[in-house]
Amino acid sequence: MKYERIYNFSAGPSMLPLEVLEKARDEMLNYGGSGMSVMEMSHRSKVYESIITEAESKMRKVMNIPDNYKVLFLQGGATLQFAMVAMNLMTKNRKADYILTGNFSTKAAEEAAKFGTVNIAGSTKEEKFVRIPRQNELKLDPEADYVHICYNNTIFGSVWDYIPDTGNVPLVADMSSCIMSEPVDVTKFALIYAGAQKNIAPAGLTIVIIREDLICEPLAGTPTMCNYSILAKNDSMYNTPPTYPIYICKLVMDWLIDMGGLTEMQARNRKKAALLYEVIDNSKLFKCSIVKENRSMMNVRFSTGSEELDAKFVKESAASGMSNLKGHRSTGGLRASIYNAMPYEGVEYLVKFIKEFEKQNA
Ligand SMILES: *Cc1c(COP(=O)(O)O)cnc(C)c1O
Repeated sequence: MKYERIYNFSAGPSMLPLEVLEKARDEMLNYGGSGMSVMEMSHRSKVYESIITEAESKMRKVMNIPDNYKVLFLQGGATLQFAMVAMNLMTKNRKADYILTGNFSTKAAEEAAKFGTVNIAGSTKEEKFVRIPRQNELKLDPEADYVHICYNNTIFGSVWDYIPDTGNVPLVADMSSCIMSEPVDVTKFALIYAGAQKNIAPAGLTIVIIREDLICEPLAGTPTMCNYSILAKNDSMYNTPPTYPIYICKLVMDWLIDMGGLTEMQARNRKKAALLYEVIDNSKLFKCSIVKENRSMMNVRFSTGSEELDAKFVKESAASGMSNLKGHRSTGGLRASIYNAMPYEGVEYLVKFIKEFEKQNA
C-alpha cells in the first residue's frame, strides 16, 4: 500500500484525505514562502490571517452558510459545547428540550441540566437507540429556549432521516460525526456544532455555526472563553485559536471544493455505505440492528452476536491491514467508521474481508 498506510476505521480522530496530508507535508517547513511552518506562526500575522479567513470563506461556500450566521473556530471539543450551548442559549426561560438518541445526546442533556431545566422531549433509550423518534412522538415545549439533537449517533450508528419541526424554538444540532458528509440546509438550524476530528481536521478544533440573533448575553458567571458573543466579536481570536487544525481544515475545504462539493461527497458516501450495509444484510453471520431508515452513512455498526467471534474479527482484520473495527466499549460488537476521507477501495477491502470471514466462520 502507498506509504504503507492502512485502512483506518476509527470513529475519531479518523482518516484525513491523503491529498491533504501530502499537501501539509509539502508545506510543512516553509508555508507559502513565509520561511516557517504554519505551526510556528503568530496567529495575528498577515500570513496566518489569510489562512483562517480562507478556512472560513471556503467552509461557508462548501456548506452554503448564509451571511446571518457566524462561524467560530474554537477549542474544547464537542463536549465543551454541551455546556456552552446551555450557558449561552438557556437564558430566557431557563429550560430546553433534549431528544435522546444515543450516548452523546444523553451527555449533552446531563451537562445542560447543570444550567437549567432539561426536558427529555423524546428518547429511544428503551429500544436501545435502534431508531430515531418520529416527529409525532416528540413532546416539545413551545416555551423551551431551544431543542437539542445529535444528528448522527457515532456510537450507536444511527442518523436522523428528517429535520424535526420545532416551530419557533431554535434547533441546535451536534453534527460532529456527519458534518460535511452531505448537503444540509443550514437555515433549518439555529446552531450547529462539531468537533473537527471526524470529517474536518485533526483534534483540537471545534466548529460552531450560529445564527447571529441567538448571540446574546450568556448566563451570569459564564467564563469568557465560553461566551459566544465575545468569541464572535473577536473573530475566534480572543486568544490563540488552534492554528494548525484550522490550516488543515482549509486544506480539507479545498479538497471538498475540488471534488465537486457536498453533492459529490454525498454520492460517494452513499455508495460506500450501501456497499457495506448490503453485505451485512445479505450475511448469515453478521447483522445490523439499526432500522433501515436511520442507518448512519458514517458509522456502520454490526455484529456476529457472539463476543468471541467479534473479537476474532477485530484481531484478524487488524492483521489484514484494517484498524479500529471494534465497537464502542459501551455497545460492544463491531463498527466501521467510514467518514469522508475513507476511500471506496477501503470499504471494498473490508467487504471482501467480511465475506471471507463469514465463509471461514459461519
Ligand atoms: C466525537 C463526538 C463527540 C465528542 O467530541 P469531542 O470533540 O471529543 O468532545 C460529541 N458528539 C458526537 C456526535 C461525536 O461524534
